Amino acid sequence: MTVRARALTTDPFDDDKLREECGIFGVTGVADAANFVALGLHALQHRGQEAGGIVTYEPAEGFHSARRFGLVRDNFTKQDVIDSLPGALAIGHVRYSTAGSKGHTQIRDVQPFFGEFSMGGSAIAHNGNITNADALRRELIGMGSIFQSSSDSECIIHLMARSLQKTVPERMKDALRRVEGAFSVVAMTRTKLIGVRDAFGVRPLVLGRIGEEGWALASETCALDIIGADFVREIEPGEMVVIENDEITTHRPFEQKKARFCIFEHVYFSRPDSSLGGRSVYETRSAIGAELAKEAPVEADLVCPVPDSGTPAAIGYAQESGIPYAMGIIRNQYMGRTFIEPTEQIRNMGVRLKLNVNRALIKGKRVILVDDSVVRGTTSRKIKEMVLDAGAAEVHFRIASPPTAWPCFYGVDTPQREKLLAATMSEEEMRDHLGVDSLKFISLDGLYRAVGEAKGRDPKAPAYCDACFSGEYPVAPADQIEKGFALKAAE
Ligand code: SF4
Repeated sequence: MTVRARALTTDPFDDDKLREECGIFGVTGVADAANFVALGLHALQHRGQEAGGIVTYEPAEGFHSARRFGLVRDNFTKQDVIDSLPGALAIGHVRYSTAGSKGHTQIRDVQPFFGEFSMGGSAIAHNGNITNADALRRELIGMGSIFQSSSDSECIIHLMARSLQKTVPERMKDALRRVEGAFSVVAMTRTKLIGVRDAFGVRPLVLGRIGEEGWALASETCALDIIGADFVREIEPGEMVVIENDEITTHRPFEQKKARFCIFEHVYFSRPDSSLGGRSVYETRSAIGAELAKEAPVEADLVCPVPDSGTPAAIGYAQESGIPYAMGIIRNQYMGRTFIEPTEQIRNMGVRLKLNVNRALIKGKRVILVDDSVVRGTTSRKIKEMVLDAGAAEVHFRIASPPTAWPCFYGVDTPQREKLLAATMSEEEMRDHLGVDSLKFISLDGLYRAVGEAKGRDPKAPAYCDACFSGEYPVAPADQIEKGFALKAAE
């Protein structure tokens, strides 16, 4: 059962991207809240396709929960599942996988997690990664805590259980002050919907209004759009909001830090129809492409995106350079789930099963291919071969992010450092390895300019987390250092 569910929801041909690991959503003040949460999670499905869960509360019967492997549309559109989740208060979670359990997810690892405390129950859903989870888990187990899952997020429930505070929000503050790393959290009690972002605000969380009485918390604004909610504002870094009886109170549980939002959300993770920092993600990606065209021009006949994630940047590159834009590569949207158990022969066809070159456009042309990132480089190589096979005269890669040379420890699935192409090769070596006529990445300064920092990156106080490019981690990854991970040497 479990194996089948995973096969259905994992794209076996797409192992060359960083993957956001979770999306979170919560609503209060609406009848049949589970329906709203299911829709919100469906809009956030790009942030995790492996599994999902919803918890609701309804006064007559208490808390209800459903956790399932697979896509939201395959589980939470079924009437019997939704009927089993009554109430006007609900939270939900979609996941790819969390630290410590990659490839071995069991239903007990699927969020939201639930805890029964003396003052009543509470459920939480977490997006991010706790970088001191191993140490916390050892400490908590040593004191008698019994963990149910392999998820780092469960530490929060156990820390809350040990707090001596009298209310769930106060216990949550106590717990989150012990936690290091990146987290956006939505949580609920019998009467409250709670949202929290870590002090650096690494992962996103937004607040929305549903009609005149309902409220929503979501990882991205696209999840507000799908339920017809109005965007109110972003939850600020280090802020906790508690929503009860249509009233919002704001708390500041953490020592104030300079915000370090994940810059890769702008490049790739968030949906292009979401907005971040008051600007549409699509516009930002297009600006990244324009900046790339200024930094790395090349004579060519066509600008083509590597679909779908390279599309807005390719449009920006084409507009800035004046070189015609064309859909030179077409993506088969359904490929990932067509072959549930791919045979070796089909696997060997690799990226061709998902992407196909538009030969009539490409033949004899000097082509600029724009992609969002290069991680292992395996897909980039295959795409180059397909474009050359189709008769392209030249292939130039332009990448809408700087070289990804360091792993992310803040809730994004990244290969180990030695598997990252940019960790072991210079730009010239990568160009030769990929076998393209030229290869250029946007500079870190250029990326900062494109996301709205006119002066580029301030090396003394960067405005974003950019650790996967710079190797400068805003929060030291304590568990990884204990396991031997070597931080970048001070310059
Ligand atoms: S390391 Fe990279 S992917 Fe991870 S939070 Fe920082 S910018 Fe985002």
